[in-house]
Amino acid sequence: MQDYDIVIGLEVHAELKTKSKVFCSCKNQFGSLPNTNCCPVCVGLPGALPILNKKAVELVIKAGLTIDSEINDLAVFERKNYFYPDLAKAYQISQLVRPICIGGHIDLKESRVRINRIHLEEDAGKLVHSTQAIGTLIDYNRGGVPLMELVTEPDISSADEAVEFLTKLRQRYIFADVAECKMEQGGMRCDVNISVKPKGSNVLGERTEMKNLNSFKSVHRAITYEANRQIEILKNGGKITQETRKWDDNHGKSISMRKKETSQDYRYFPDPDLLAVEISREEVETIRKSLPMMPEQLKERYIKDYGLSEYEADIITKDRDIVKYYNKAITLYKNPKIVANWLLTDILSKIKDEQDSQIKISPEDLAKILTLLGQAKISRTVAKDIFAKVWEEGADVDELAKTMGGSVDNESLKNIIKNIVENNQKAVDDYHTSDTPEKVFRWFVGQVMKETKGKANAQTAEKIIKELLK
Ligand code: ADP
Ligand code: MG
Ligand code: ZN
Repeated sequence: MQDYDIVIGLEVHAELKTKSKVFCSCKNQFGSLPNTNCCPVCVGLPGALPILNKKAVELVIKAGLTIDSEINDLAVFERKNYFYPDLAKAYQISQLVRPICIGGHIDLKESRVRINRIHLEEDAGKLVHSTQAIGTLIDYNRGGVPLMELVTEPDISSADEAVEFLTKLRQRYIFADVAECKMEQGGMRCDVNISVKPKGSNVLGERTEMKNLNSFKSVHRAITYEANRQIEILKNGGKITQETRKWDDNHGKSISMRKKETSQDYRYFPDPDLLAVEISREEVETIRKSLPMMPEQLKERYIKDYGLSEYEADIITKDRDIVKYYNKAITLYKNPKIVANWLLTDILSKIKDEQDSQIKISPEDLAKILTLLGQAKISRTVAKDIFAKVWEEGADVDELAKTMGGSVDNESLKNIIKNIVENNQKAVDDYHTSDTPEKVFRWFVGQVMKETKGKANAQTAEKIIKELLK
């Protein structure tokens, strides 16, 4: 492997989060009964006329702004001509010469990946290969679903980097609310272009392309396999032919499909049924202003303004739902550090164990518990108990706090501790003579908790014990 550089360029398709399709008013909805979200336009009947969904254009602009693209002031739709049964009108409406977004980049840990473009096109229908004798069925529900395609420059140099790039891109789309990117539903798919060249050479090698990979894991496996395959061929004196290959995830290998087509093969031309789209600078600025913070910005803010550790900030900003939860909770309980602590140690670790990404306690309830704890109305042990009961049984925090918490006031606590100290003279002596007084001290704390069934406020108890042991 040392003798070759791997060069990768990605084409990433993501279905946009719109209510209706891109050139008609049919529903953009996954999981409907086959062929129920269809009309003459999206099925491709001759003569049916497309109308552009403005929202789809806005979402592509928004996506472009998250990666610092330039937004074209004029975008043009073109016909990409090819036949396949899932595309009945024999052309796909896409963009070639004037896409909506040009350029941009995403920074990875160690390198920058330049973006070539993002354009808007329509998705095709779906072939369903039936296992029964009836053969292949076609579901046109997906036909005409708005799809944005992002194309990178060949700046990615390993399978790990490709996955890092896709992870970041997916996060941005989700944070900007432009696409849900549900990979398992085909909501985000990736074509991998890959070539290898002698280490350090600045001439790109011949590339192959693998289409429609729909998980990060298969992207990683496909790149690893294909890079090795190409390197082996070159080492044996062979040549790489430019071709489209199919990645077979079950068998873990790529298979030649067809000679690679070029854009000339598709006979692109401007679609006469659609006007060019003028995009005003005002509109772009309005959309820019509506952009929420991206994960990296949020992370910086959490560290600088809220005092979170790099690790904490990193974990929270990985997921938009967690960010939403956290942001809500800290408006209700204004100690971001403590909220982060509970979020990471109590909530996220629990989710991991449960294999169920549902947070079963509302930010409101979490804030209530933390407030009671902060005001020393309940002890830490009781706080954890209440937390568990809310999580498991949907219990009511206030009710629980009434029955479980609060009852040990400082005066009674002092008496309880006095009693413990008086009845354990040996431990008191140990405390003064032992090499590890802290251990003995902990034992006293334990006794207090036992006596109060965990209802004592730990800090107050510790303070009193220290005083009495002086
Ligand atoms: P098309 O697939 O439509 O012919 P492009 O020439 O635009 O398209 O390239 C598609 C993708 O292939 C881009 O992501 C680009 O970065 C990548 N690419 C181009 N040449 C190479 C190469 N020699 N090795 C690896 N990737 C490449
Ligand atoms: Mg391609
Ligand atoms: Zn339709």
